[in-house]
Amino acid sequence: MFNKKILYLFLIVSIFIFIVACDNFNNKPADETSTNALVIITTSKIEETSLVTIQPTMTPTVKPTSTLSPTNSNTITPTTKPTVTSTSTSTPTSIPTATHTVMPTVTQTAMPTATPTLKPTKTPVDQDILSGLKICIDPGHQIKGNYNKEQCAPWSDALKTKCTSGTTGNFTGVDEYIINLQIAEKIRNKLFDLGADVLMTRQSHEVDISNIERAKMANEYGADITLRIHCNSAASSTAEGIDLFVRGKGTGTQEYLAQSDKDYAIAADLLEYICNATGARKRYVHKTDDYTGINWCENTCIIIECGFLSNEKEDKLLNSAEYQDKIAEGIKNYFVSLH
Ligand SMILES: [Zn+2]
Repeated sequence: MFNKKILYLFLIVSIFIFIVACDNFNNKPADETSTNALVIITTSKIEETSLVTIQPTMTPTVKPTSTLSPTNSNTITPTTKPTVTSTSTSTPTSIPTATHTVMPTVTQTAMPTATPTLKPTKTPVDQDILSGLKICIDPGHQIKGNYNKEQCAPWSDALKTKCTSGTTGNFTGVDEYIINLQIAEKIRNKLFDLGADVLMTRQSHEVDISNIERAKMANEYGADITLRIHCNSAASSTAEGIDLFVRGKGTGTQEYLAQSDKDYAIAADLLEYICNATGARKRYVHKTDDYTGINWCENTCIIIECGFLSNEKEDKLLNSAEYQDKIAEGIKNYFVSLH
């Protein structure tokens, strides 16, 4: 009985040992795998857990963010908009500010600096730069022509009209004698301001002075130069520009002839200055024996045909004070250039 019990016990124990031994033998690598599997699972579980842990963390983070997003977009949109608007407002504000700051600074700095620099520099020099120069200015024509005749030249018996009333603007209808006096007055003022002695043969339209008389006025005055101011006219309305006339090489006295080239040279320079100042087309310096006023004049005498009243553009220009001033400026510049 006892032996049977021991035997049974031994068998049971043996079977148990065998089973355990078999299990150990079969499952060892599997255990590693399973361990790995367990690890993986654990990891995945951890990951899942961490994901889960993260997700709730993210979700609220994202959600509030997405919740914020609308809030933000609402908040931001108006916030950024005003910010942008205020930025863009500040941008144009800064632009005009800069522009304003720059503009007046430059203008104000440049203007007063340039103006006083020029004025004091020029004024003392220019004040009497033409001192001692005697200039006769003859504004051509008069309101009513004198059609009596007079000797065209001292050496000739040919007769010419004493003084016509001149031409008339084809487009403005303004008479030449009016424009001539306006230009002459501007020349007189500019030359007088620079110290020149100036004689005007007339200062009104209601005069009756022949061309010989005008020349004699210049002679008696002892003028160094006589400027006879006129405006031109032509059949063609396209003719434009400035012509000058000086004494010619005709039948004049030896004295007269000797002065011709000298006058021509002066007139050529003068024409240059007038055209530079006016921008007018530079035409020619003509030598002629046809003008009584030149023929009887004992000093350098130049007829200045300031432009064509038969040309629409020049008719209008010659009637503008601004353009008249340019003519006078050109003449003044010529005399200044001599000093
Ligand atoms: Zn004339």
